[in-house]
Amino acid sequence: MKRTIPKIGIILISLIVFPTFFFSIYEVKNLNSNEQVIDSIYSSQLSSIVFSLNQYSDDVVSSWANAIDNPQNNPAKTDSLMESLLNWNLALKGVFFAEDFSIGNLYLANDFSLESAEIDYLNQTLSNNQVEIERLLKYYDVGYRQIYPVEIELDRASLLLFASVSPDKRYNICGLFVDSEDFIKENLGPKFQYMAQGKFFISAFNKKNSEAIFTSDLFDEDEHKIRIKETLWLFKSYEIGIQLDGDPIEQMVNERRKNNIIIIVLMDMVLLIGAWVVYRYIRKEMKLTQIKNDFVSNVSHEIKTPLALINMYSETLEMGRIPTEEKKIEYYKTINKEARRLSRMVNKILSFSKIENGKRDYVFAKTDINEIVEKVISTYQHHFKNSNFESKFNLVKNLPSINVDEEAIIDALNNLIDNAIKYSATEKLIEINTGIIADRVFVEVKDSGIGIQKKDQALIFDKFYRVTDGDLAHHAKGSGIGLNIVKHIIDSHKGEIKVQSSYGNGSSFTLFFNHL
Ligand code: ADP
Repeated sequence: MKRTIPKIGIILISLIVFPTFFFSIYEVKNLNSNEQVIDSIYSSQLSSIVFSLNQYSDDVVSSWANAIDNPQNNPAKTDSLMESLLNWNLALKGVFFAEDFSIGNLYLANDFSLESAEIDYLNQTLSNNQVEIERLLKYYDVGYRQIYPVEIELDRASLLLFASVSPDKRYNICGLFVDSEDFIKENLGPKFQYMAQGKFFISAFNKKNSEAIFTSDLFDEDEHKIRIKETLWLFKSYEIGIQLDGDPIEQMVNERRKNNIIIIVLMDMVLLIGAWVVYRYIRKEMKLTQIKNDFVSNVSHEIKTPLALINMYSETLEMGRIPTEEKKIEYYKTINKEARRLSRMVNKILSFSKIENGKRDYVFAKTDINEIVEKVISTYQHHFKNSNFESKFNLVKNLPSINVDEEAIIDALNNLIDNAIKYSATEKLIEINTGIIADRVFVEVKDSGIGIQKKDQALIFDKFYRVTDGDLAHHAKGSGIGLNIVKHIIDSHKGEIKVQSSYGNGSSFTLFFNHL
């Protein structure tokens, strides 16, 4: 049985604790990869929003290019076409046609002008971009018109180039001057709002000074760390930043991870506590089973010995082999003594079983404790003498009366005196004292026997508990219910039982009662 308990521990650990532990590690690892997947989905969602904004910018500029590069355009009406284009599109500041890297026709918005030095600079820029311009033309030949942003040092506008035949068929490259910030505010702004839909913050920044040109909503950059920033395809000095409205996703992911880990840890703790409770319960049950088995074997043993003696002596008497009357009387006495021992044992078990089933009733009456003690002593006198026990009694006279069930108190004292006799080795001295201390009447049964170790003193009142260390304790017969009965009786009298013992030097059990 003792080996089974650690085995149960090992089984519980391998059935509950290990799987839980490994499951938790697996879950925590999974959490990390789940959060990573969420994170990457989120990032690509943001990227696709930025992509579609870029696409939209391209569409707007392409629509201007379409209007300009239309074979139906009447060369005579080119000026008015340009004028209406420039008038209707605030961000469009100028249009030019060029060939061989030299600007020919130039149309400018009213609020935009170019000095001749600037035109030279632009011509130079065109020739610097020869390779790209040739590529634009090549694409154009196969039916694809690409918009190409050229880097220029003009504060006021960006330059976008595309291949196009001018209405008078003289030029093949068209340039658009676009005010980037106006374009972002006027053309991209509504798109920002539409795409943000209260779920995202979308902002456009000037890369040089990180200043926000336009944002979809009032927004505090310290609070909302921009998650993704991407340069606009057509306006390379500007970038679009985007972030989820509310907590940044990293924070949300971290919070979720933290919560999940806390839940897992709590679950683990509950499971561990559960396993511990189950283990404790099983251990207790097994111990109890073991104690009950021991009890049955101890009681059987105690009953067997007197029965065997009674059997032997009565058979001898029956056979008429006893020669003298004296011997016969001695045999009868032994039979009588063993029968009494047997009946005491049976009574003890019955008494215990009544207590266990809650059926022990007490009849309380006003009594003098000394009277009870004297009655008990008188039944033991003979025994003390026969077993060479020295006995001392100190009964203080005129003690106040107490309200007790006499039978029960006799039962309790019998148990204490039986133990004092049983657990005395060579020093055979029994003292029984009564008196009053701190306004409580007491009766003390004291022996000079083997004593009880400190660690056992609190446990000896538990049912079936027996001390088995030490020679005498090991060999003494007993059932482990005597002191439990005493305790129950005293508790039912609202009294108290105290044990004082020094190992090897004897013990003293004192019963305290409140007097009337
Ligand atoms: P048991 O039938 O074993 O005597 P009890 O409940 O009466 O059962 O006592 C419980 C244990 O307390 C005993 O096994 C014994 O070890 C210890 N004990 C009780 N009384 C004494 C005593 N007077 N001296 C030493 N040990 C005692």
